[in-house]
Amino acid sequence: YMLFDEFANKIQQAISNVSKLQVFNDKEFQKALKNVRDSLIEADANVEIVDELISNVETKMKQVKIPKGVTKTQMFVKLVQDGLTEILGGEGTSDRILSAPQRQKRIMFVGLQGSGKTTTIAKFAKLTLKKFPKARILLVACDTRRPAAIEQLNILGKRVNCETFSGEEGSNAEWVLDRALKYSLEKEFDYILIDTAGRQVIDNDLMNELVLLEKNAKPDEILLVLDAMTGQEAANVARQFATTVRISGAVLTKLDSDTRGGAALSLNSISGCSICFMGTSENLDGLETFYPDRIASRILG
Ligand code: GDP
Repeated sequence: YMLFDEFANKIQQAISNVSKLQVFNDKEFQKALKNVRDSLIEADANVEIVDELISNVETKMKQVKIPKGVTKTQMFVKLVQDGLTEILGGEGTSDRILSAPQRQKRIMFVGLQGSGKTTTIAKFAKLTLKKFPKARILLVACDTRRPAAIEQLNILGKRVNCETFSGEEGSNAEWVLDRALKYSLEKEFDYILIDTAGRQVIDNDLMNELVLLEKNAKPDEILLVLDAMTGQEAANVARQFATTVRISGAVLTKLDSDTRGGAALSLNSISGCSICFMGTSENLDGLETFYPDRIASRILG
């Protein structure tokens, strides 16, 4: 798959037009800025953040002292790349999240139903085991209201060779969490990955349950799982979650089906959340780290 292919094609076109120029005068510069801006807007990026990026590039281009051996057009491309990196979240955080298991590390996964939360937990377990083959990982089924969700976590857990902890039918999320944490201490698990209730929409019930689980689990990280195919709406969902629980990073799923990149391009500015992983396929190998600078250069080709 090509990451955000529709957007990437447009912005690469804008960049390649600039690169071919013999003279990069003010008229060409304005044209290039407009093309970059259009490609971002068409990608469903948040307008305010796009205008900020464009005006930054414009100012910097006028102020910057271009080093010897670097052309004006190369400088322009670099400034666009820096701007893109910035709106994709600046510094990446996945290294911290996927750190070596030193002690019981608790990671809570939150997100709307259908966002890919359960799949992401299994993928995350698999990715962790690939990096740290001896890690002992416990999956905890705290989405207790939907028997299908518990069953799915069980099945996925088996596929990635991880034990799943779930309560008996009818037990509530707090109870399951409490038992699971005791169990994980006893059995010395390194990672405790906690699945939480998913809903179709954000409501008080959901948020209250998450607040309670956060309080009881004292997680090291809370990862918010978002469906990239919902575009800018994913950023709005993130903003609402982020006002309720302490989101430490976002996992953007289904990037293999997202051609525009609107969620990725708007998330950080709208919600303050930064992307740390991306889902790139339905199968359990399809989770990759997300480093804004690398992603920006991949998009620009
Ligand atoms: P949950 O309700 O949030 O737990 O969502 P699920 O984990 O059940 O995922 C919902 C659907 O999205 C399933 O059919 C998954 O296979 C699919 N899915 C999840 N992540 C990805 C991804 O990165 N790419 C693609 N193509 N499909 C995904």
